[in-house]
Amino acid sequence: MSEQLIQKYDLTLATPECHPNVDWYRAFIKLSNDITEVLPYLNAEFDGANYDHGGKILLWANKNKKYAFRPCEIAIVPVETREEAQRLFNNIVSLVNEIWLRRDEIKPNFEDKKAPPNVLSIYNLLPKTNCRECGFTCMAFATALRTDFSKLSLCPYLSEKNYANLVS
Ligand code: SF4
Repeated sequence: MSEQLIQKYDLTLATPECHPNVDWYRAFIKLSNDITEVLPYLNAEFDGANYDHGGKILLWANKNKKYAFRPCEIAIVPVETREEAQRLFNNIVSLVNEIWLRRDEIKPNFEDKKAPPNVLSIYNLLPKTNCRECGFTCMAFATALRTDFSKLSLCPYLSEKNYANLVS
C-alpha cells in the first residue's frame, strides 16, 4: 500500500466570478484520478469539516483558508499569489496522501457534522437576479443547495468562500 493517491495535478488561479475586482484568487487543482474514496477519511481527520457523502463534496476551513474537496478537484480560497497556491497545494496533497496511506488505521466518517444552514442565509449570498443559469430561481436554488451542497458549482455567482463561511 505504498502508492500515493494524488500523483499528478494542474494548478489554476481564477478570479471569483462574483467578485471580478478583488485582489485574491480561487485556486484549484484538477486531479488526474478520482479521490472520492478518501473523503470519509478526511472527514474523520479534519476538525470541523462539513461533508456531504451523497454529493461527494467536503468543505474544510483551516488557518484562514477554505478548502473544497471534490472527486477530481481540490479548491482553496482566498489565495493571493501562485507561489502561495503552490505551497498550499503541496501541503494539502501531502496531507491527503498521508491520510490515504494510513486509511487502515482510521475509521471513516460518512456522516455530515453540522445541520445545514437555513434557506434564507443561503439566499442572502445570492445576487437574487433569478437568471436561471443554475436551472432554478435563486430561492429554489437556495432550497436545493441546503440539502445538497454538491449543487454549489451550479451558480457561477455564489462565492465558494462565503458559502464555506456559512457552513463551517
Ligand atoms: S445561477 Fe441560479 S442561484 Fe445563481 S443568480 Fe442565477 S438564478 Fe440565482
